[in-house]
Amino acid sequence: MEDNKIKKCCICGREFVGYGNNPDGAAWMDQFGRPQLPEFKEDDVCCDECDGMYVVPGRIYRMRLRQEEAKKAKGEAKNAETAD
Ligand SMILES: [Zn+2]
Repeated sequence: MEDNKIKKCCICGREFVGYGNNPDGAAWMDQFGRPQLPEFKEDDVCCDECDGMYVVPGRIYRMRLRQEEAKKAKGEAKNAETAD
């Protein structure tokens, strides 16, 4: 059975049994406090712990990042309009 196979978490490297989670969207800070936004392969899976620790917050973080960028782009467009 596919779900009884031992899988290796692509984030922490630990082996686990079960379906695993899609790690897409995971993000974390490195030891210097810089945000890491890794890309994952299609067959990558992560364990439940990393899902809760990096994937769920990472997706929220990336969403906020996109919103900030959109806001910034909008602000810049506005500045360009009023520059003349
Ligand atoms: Zn893990």
